[in-house]
Amino acid sequence: MTSLIWPQLRINSDLNIFNGFKNLLFKFNTKNINKSNKPNGQVYLIGAGPGDPELLTIKAYRLLQEAEVVFYDSLITDEMLQLIPAKIQKIFVGKRCGQHSMKQQNICDLLVKTALTGKKIVRLKGGDPSIFGRLAEEADALKNNNIPFAIVPGITAASGCAAYSGIPLTHREYSQSVRFVTAHLKKEELQADWHNLASSKDTLVFYMGLNRISQISEGLIKFGMLDTMPIAIIDKGATDQQQVIISTLKDITQTMKGLKLLGPALIVVGEVINARQVVDLEMLNMSEVVNESS
Ligand code: SAH
Repeated sequence: MTSLIWPQLRINSDLNIFNGFKNLLFKFNTKNINKSNKPNGQVYLIGAGPGDPELLTIKAYRLLQEAEVVFYDSLITDEMLQLIPAKIQKIFVGKRCGQHSMKQQNICDLLVKTALTGKKIVRLKGGDPSIFGRLAEEADALKNNNIPFAIVPGITAASGCAAYSGIPLTHREYSQSVRFVTAHLKKEELQADWHNLASSKDTLVFYMGLNRISQISEGLIKFGMLDTMPIAIIDKGATDQQQVIISTLKDITQTMKGLKLLGPALIVVGEVINARQVVDLEMLNMSEVVNESS
C-alpha cells in the first residue's frame, strides 16, 4: 500500500454562528444567574470535543457562559477559549510540551479549594471527560468534599478524528467493534496485552501513542497481526492543521521518518482504514451568517 499524507486542511475559524446560539440560549434562559446557588459551589466536568470549537455541545457552550472560573488543559485550543467571555477567569492546569505539568492531585486540590469559595466552576477537558480524562479522580475529590458536580459529555478524539479523516471506525465488512486503548500505561513496566490486541478483530484506536508508534506496530506484528495491516495516524485531528498519514504496520516507522507531527495524535489500526472515504472538510466551514431581525 502506498503511504499517503493528506494536505493540510483549513477549517474556517469564524465563530459568528455562536452568536446565533447565544441569542437562542439566552432567550430561554431568562434567569441567567452566574453565581452558584450552592454553598459549596458547583463543578461541571465538561468535554470540549477534539479540536474544532464547533464540536462543543450546546450545553457545554451554555455552561461556559455561566461559569465564574474555567480550569482547562492543553487539549483546549485557543479557538475554544475564545468562546468563553473575557470576564470569566480562565486557569490553565495542563501540560505544555517540555514543561512541567501540574500533578493530578494538585488539580483536584485546586478544584476543591476554588469550589469551596462558593463558585460555579467549569472543568474543561479535551474530547470526552470519561475517556482517558482522569475524570474519576476529580469526581472523587469533589464527592469527598461534598461539592455538587455534573458531567457533560464531549466528542472523543476517536469519533472526531474518524469523521474528519473519513475512516469508519466500524464497517460491517471489516470490523464489528472498536477498542479504545491507551498507549500510556500507568506504570511503565506494565506491558500492553499485545497477544489480546493482536488477535482481535476489533478496530484498535490508540490514544497517547505518538511516541510509541514503533512499539505499537512491532508489538502487534510480534503477536501475530498481519504486517500489511493498515495503520493511520491522525495528527491534530479536527483542527485546521489536521494531517492524516496512512501506512501499514511494517512500513509505518519508515513512513514517519522526517515527518513533523506535534500531536495530539491518534493511531487507528484495522482494515476499516481501507474503507476510508475522502471527506470534504471545506464543507464544514461556516458560511456567513446573516442576522435578520424580525
Ligand atoms: N479525553 C480525550 C482523550 C485524552 S488523552 C478524548 O476523549 O479525546 C489525550 C490523547 O487523546 C492524545 O494523546 C491523543 O491521542 C488523543 N487526542 C485528543 N485530541 C486529539 C486530536 N484533536 N487529534 C488527535 N488525537 C487527539
